[in-house]
Amino acid sequence: MLVIEAKLKGSQNQYKVLDEMILTGQFIRNSCLRYWMDNKDVKRNDLQKLCSQLAKDSNFPWVKKLNSQARQASADRAWQSIQRFYKNCRLKLPGKKGYPKFKKFTRSVEYKSTGYKLSADRKKIEFKDGFKAGVFELWTSRDLVWYSEQQINRVRVVRRADGYYCQFLVNVERKEGHKFEGNVVGIDLGLNAFYTDSDGNAVENPKYLSSSEKRLKKLQRRVSRRYHKGKPQSNNYHKARKQLARQHLKISRQRKDHAVKTARALIQSNDLVVYEDLKIANLVKNHHLAKSISDASWYQFTECLEYYGKFHGIACIAVPPHFTSQNCSNCGQTVKKSLSVRTHKCPHCGYIADRDHNAAKNILAKGLEMLGAIVNSTEGHSESGGNPKATGESDHWFDDSNIANLSHLCERRIINDENPAS
Ligand SMILES: [Zn+2]
Repeated sequence: MLVIEAKLKGSQNQYKVLDEMILTGQFIRNSCLRYWMDNKDVKRNDLQKLCSQLAKDSNFPWVKKLNSQARQASADRAWQSIQRFYKNCRLKLPGKKGYPKFKKFTRSVEYKSTGYKLSADRKKIEFKDGFKAGVFELWTSRDLVWYSEQQINRVRVVRRADGYYCQFLVNVERKEGHKFEGNVVGIDLGLNAFYTDSDGNAVENPKYLSSSEKRLKKLQRRVSRRYHKGKPQSNNYHKARKQLARQHLKISRQRKDHAVKTARALIQSNDLVVYEDLKIANLVKNHHLAKSISDASWYQFTECLEYYGKFHGIACIAVPPHFTSQNCSNCGQTVKKSLSVRTHKCPHCGYIADRDHNAAKNILAKGLEMLGAIVNSTEGHSESGGNPKATGESDHWFDDSNIANLSHLCERRIINDENPAS
């Protein structure tokens, strides 16, 4: 799957129609949720039925203006949040289970294969359902021309702080060749450097991000200064609020760009990447701004790693984040140190290394250990051939052809262990 995003260029009136389309999608989603709360044993099919009832209901004449597949997609969104809630309950996750909520500020609506028409040169899109939003120009750096209409599975209209966008979900098999060279790496995501790898290389946080974040804080202060509780807000307040929203958007784009580039480079030059598993539940608890920003970008980065790993056929392993910074990567003894201590000095074996470098080495060692277990447990399956497999609880993904190479890696590790001098 590939997502191509284009800015929609149209008139102010057309944008208002897009807002109505988005609101209608939200109305359907919320109605489905209400129905699920009020009734027992609601199935996905019941929500689809409700969807067509709403379209016939003369109290809500705007519903039938939305394309029927877009209506179904909105009902499916409600169904997805219900399913997610059930799944969290089933897994007995600690903390909140994410009981579905009514949405007030939905930003998007989704079309499937009908209700719109792309021009032959792919430079324009026309929405053809009852809302009659009309023709928009598509501004994108990526050429949609390369893909047939059959390959476009979904079209999503998204409202952002700086305008309206159209996302095309294109069905293409993304798979790239990768030459196996036996390079393995562990990475420690940190505050000082963006990450430090097990060879001691550090990738810095980009400078532009920190200056953007400084500006974000400034704008945030401006907004709260101009906010007056219990009074109608001034124009100046709304101006600042919009500036803040645009700055958030800018940062999220910069951060994504950085995550994508760094992750791709890491995957392309390695055959195994090990990183620390960041638990989202822990992330949400964190209220400290700088920390939460870095948490969010780490999480995005690991998502990118998994994504690129998949289509390069490279294994990515997430290891539990315990003791990776406290243990000595040379002798395995525990060396307690606080966050401010930047250098690891082992009193047991005399090993001295940068704190993050030491952690990255521990992460790699843990990953190789897990890899050994995973390869052993999948070896039986791989002989019979078959699909990419998930192993045990983890959803690590391995290419069939990669299994042989990976077990090679494990063997090498065992040899290294037996001859610690080498
Ligand atoms: Zn040591």
